[in-house]
Amino acid sequence: MTSVVNSPVASFLESGSKQLWIDGAWRPAADGAVIESINPSTGEVLCSFAAGGAADVDAAVAAARRAFEGPWSRFTPVQRQNVLLAFADLVDEHADELTHLDVLDMGAPIGRPVSSFTPAEVLRYYAGWATKIHGETISNSVSPDIFTYTRREPVGVVGSIIPWNGPLGSAIFKIAPVLATGCTMVLKPAEDASLSSVRLMELFAELNVPAGVVNLVTGVGSAAGAALVEHPGVDKVAFTGSTAVGQQIVRAAAGNLKRLSLELGGKSPDIVFADADLERAVPGAGMGVFANTGQVCCAGTRIFVERPIYEEFVEGLAHFADSLKVGNSLDAQTQIGPIVSQRQLNRVSGYVTSGLEEGARAVTGGRRIETDGLASGYFLRPAVFADVKDEMRIAREEIFGPVASVMPFDTVEEALARSNATTYGLGGGVWTNDLGRAHRVAHGLRTGVVWVNGYGYFDPAVPFGGHKQSGWGSELSVHSLEEYLNTKAVWVTT
Ligand code: ADP
Repeated sequence: MTSVVNSPVASFLESGSKQLWIDGAWRPAADGAVIESINPSTGEVLCSFAAGGAADVDAAVAAARRAFEGPWSRFTPVQRQNVLLAFADLVDEHADELTHLDVLDMGAPIGRPVSSFTPAEVLRYYAGWATKIHGETISNSVSPDIFTYTRREPVGVVGSIIPWNGPLGSAIFKIAPVLATGCTMVLKPAEDASLSSVRLMELFAELNVPAGVVNLVTGVGSAAGAALVEHPGVDKVAFTGSTAVGQQIVRAAAGNLKRLSLELGGKSPDIVFADADLERAVPGAGMGVFANTGQVCCAGTRIFVERPIYEEFVEGLAHFADSLKVGNSLDAQTQIGPIVSQRQLNRVSGYVTSGLEEGARAVTGGRRIETDGLASGYFLRPAVFADVKDEMRIAREEIFGPVASVMPFDTVEEALARSNATTYGLGGGVWTNDLGRAHRVAHGLRTGVVWVNGYGYFDPAVPFGGHKQSGWGSELSVHSLEEYLNTKAVWVTT
């Protein structure tokens, strides 16, 4: 079944224009501009949505400020917890629709959930934290008559900018800590995948929450995104996206010294030792690169394999890549969906060409699929390159597509040194049955997360974030909460 007509979101797609949600009301962009949403499985237009600009961002930030200083500031922790729990129930009730929107909008395969937990579980996890944010009393040495304590206060108005590769999850990861801490926000989803955010706001609108607590401004990054980042009324920007845009955001945020949390790109290593269980390591490392069509910031794209098993691994990985069913994201059998857009397909294909030109061994894949009714979509066969050299572009730059680079190594020291020889530091993997070596590699990798004998697990309670140029701060867990809180010290002379 690959038709949009009978899908649970058909009525949403057919309903009127998808507008901006500002100050508790829907409105078109100030200049009336819209963007078309394209289904990457077919190249067809799904619908259009508002392309907000600087004037809309102004209105949204003003609404968020009024809510922050007004009614929302009087919500107790239990009330905020209850908002999160009620939102979680709504998101659960409409999970099918929300999932379908991402399936159609950015091509996530319907039969393969992006993560092992549901968006509602993230909301419930943060609902629990709303009542557990507290300061401390501190014994000072100034005077026994002075009492000192700290308060954890919400940072204020947050501008949250998210990418297209996991739109629903990214929106939830940003909304949940905002509501738990008592901040307010303006959400700016990616122009390539905004529909699930619009539907989320329709659900949020059903809750009894003051106008302006959460606002949605869809639009292009260089207009709506840039306006939000530069806005003097925004106290913090929470950004997930490319390192290049992250750098622009750091510069643009300097005006009023915004707090920043950045979840950026990666070129993550995955190290396979000769003693690893190859039956697990081959598909594990394979999906570490190819899951979500390689459009994952922590994809383990540089696979270092210990020399004695190198050829066997390359052959196994190629066989695994060839076995993957690439297809329409609405097909329940599909394991690998399309690339999100023609622009990204061109970009990824350019990297395949550069791998060939720089002399890597093309073992399999890398070609656009133009058969089986897939010609009008943006489909690429998962690619495996072997004998890749560290200095080649495919080994250095983030591709954000289904392209694996496999390289042999001889010693643990060499594997670690080459793994760390990158400006990025997001994910890392190691496959071995030697416990001591697993720990040594886990400690030696300069990355924000390491997976041992498995790749790509996430949990709401476990922090996720990058070191080096992969970002600042963490997503998920109590550590993400910290990003939305300021600490204030209070001295009381009695
Ligand atoms: P991706 O590689 O996922 O497309 P981008 O970094 O290009 O990553 O985009 C991530 C998000 O950042 C999107 O919502 C996009 O609209 C937004 N964005 C792009 N450019 C800017 C900018 N100059 N300022 C603020 N946001 C931007």
